[in-house]
Amino acid sequence: MDRKLIFQNKIISELDKKGFRNSEKRNAIIRAFVASNKHLNADELYEIVKKIRAGIGFVTVYRTLKLLVRYGFAREVDFKDGFTRYEINDEPSVQHDHLICIRCGSVTEFKDAEIEKLKDKASSNTGFAPIFHRLEIFGICKQCGKKKVKPGWKKMYE
Ligand SMILES: [Zn+2]
Ligand SMILES: [Zn+2]
Repeated sequence: MDRKLIFQNKIISELDKKGFRNSEKRNAIIRAFVASNKHLNADELYEIVKKIRAGIGFVTVYRTLKLLVRYGFAREVDFKDGFTRYEINDEPSVQHDHLICIRCGSVTEFKDAEIEKLKDKASSNTGFAPIFHRLEIFGICKQCGKKKVKPGWKKMYE
């Protein structure tokens, strides 16, 4: 079975086990979210969901995202563009992190086991129990680096 389909089903069955009454609307939102595989904000997900299934309000989409974050199925990311964005969290062993271009807004994902080790080391030194981490690196992507533009946070202030 397709990896996304497995994760969609996993979320739905685990929410069911946690006592959330099975909701056809919520399931439609979950399926659309996992299928999207992008860093969507709540508005963008709402736009997608609206086209798939009528009668789902923005608030339901927003609450579903928060629920997914609360139970570790999704995580929030912040690319400094004024939105809280969400992505699926189906890789608890080694999380990916982000390189964000401040000119064009492109987002590149990368994974590095060293970061996980660092997280564990910093935590154990202080007796802290880590759950997840967030690392966002801001800069200029290769494409934008070739163009002669004055440096600045163009994307952020547009
Ligand atoms: Zn760029
Ligand atoms: Zn990501």
